[in-house]
Amino acid sequence: MSSIVQNSNLQNVLNCVYKMESPTRARIAQRLGLSRTALTSLVNELFELDLLSEKETEEHKNGRPGVILSPNTTSWFACGASFDQNTWSFVILNLLGEVVYRRQVQIDPDPIKTVSSDYAVSCLVDTLPSVLQQCPGKLLPMIGIGVPGFIDKEQGMIEYASDLGWRNVRISKAVEDAIGLPVTILNRHMTSGLAESRIGAGIHTKDMVYLGISTGLIACNFSDGDFLIGSNYNLGEVGHTIIDPYGTRCTCGKKGCLQAVASQTALCNNIRSHYGDSWPFSSFTPSLEEIYDIATNNPDSICAKELSVTIRYIGILCSNLFNLFNPDRIVIGGPVSALFKGILLDELERVITESVVPHHFDKSMIKTSTLQNWGSSIGAGLLVLDNILSLVFIK
Ligand SMILES: [Zn+2]
Repeated sequence: MSSIVQNSNLQNVLNCVYKMESPTRARIAQRLGLSRTALTSLVNELFELDLLSEKETEEHKNGRPGVILSPNTTSWFACGASFDQNTWSFVILNLLGEVVYRRQVQIDPDPIKTVSSDYAVSCLVDTLPSVLQQCPGKLLPMIGIGVPGFIDKEQGMIEYASDLGWRNVRISKAVEDAIGLPVTILNRHMTSGLAESRIGAGIHTKDMVYLGISTGLIACNFSDGDFLIGSNYNLGEVGHTIIDPYGTRCTCGKKGCLQAVASQTALCNNIRSHYGDSWPFSSFTPSLEEIYDIATNNPDSICAKELSVTIRYIGILCSNLFNLFNPDRIVIGGPVSALFKGILLDELERVITESVVPHHFDKSMIKTSTLQNWGSSIGAGLLVLDNILSLVFIK
């Protein structure tokens, strides 16, 4: 899919508008080494494409007010979707990444139940047309999708999502055939990380790790502001790093993966295996809300013990991430972080302080996500902005 901004000079100007503080025509011309005349011509082209707007500032220089350029927030819009907790989340974003429409469609009330990929994809395809009808302006011609598991980005395919048992899911083709728009996909935790780094808990950081915890675990890495995605877009599969070669068998088939002991699914399974006949929960899968209530009301309960074990594993993982990547912030996301925020941060701080290399950590360096369960779909929409506008955030 080619950009709607074909000329590389136009792309450079647009990137300056996105990346510079207070981008005026003069500052952009100076940054790009262009004459004012050449820059004015390029800016006018971007106005004709409805990509820019401008506002006068209070700053006066040489007796004239400064005019700041910014992305036009009322013309073009991007659609992002993401699948997590057996729920599809859809957003429509303006060119600043602000949400102008959002919707969630739950396809099963049990967040960790394994649903078929055919069912999930058909729900996506059936819902997208009504979501796109809510676009308040021109739609950028691409759909961004955050998906579970390992992906083949070129084929637009989920190769393998072990937590769901999905293999070779040709999700891009299904959407393209139904909607007639090209699709870009990325792992759902990576799109969450992208959103947190741009507009969430990681904003203004340069070196950030986002750790997504749901039925799977992913750590995605931002270095000097750039999103590192790996040689085939699958960087950061920490859930399948082996921490105990004699440990519990993981859904991927190996023994002792972190995902088998520290994911949302592992927490629920461990609690289930201990309770036996005195099952206190309303359904087969204990909800995170129920686990949190029991754990906080009864510190000696099985829920409190198993939650403490899970958080300890997450804390040790965070220590390893601090040691490996030396980030200035780790942002914890996913449903586990959203619900357990109150006890998660204090406990993580204690575990990390115990286990991290000295000088790599203080408590201000760990945060929970601010975009919560919308982050992944927002990040998928940001992927569309990056692709269609040729924004250069990803190296
Ligand atoms: Zn595994």
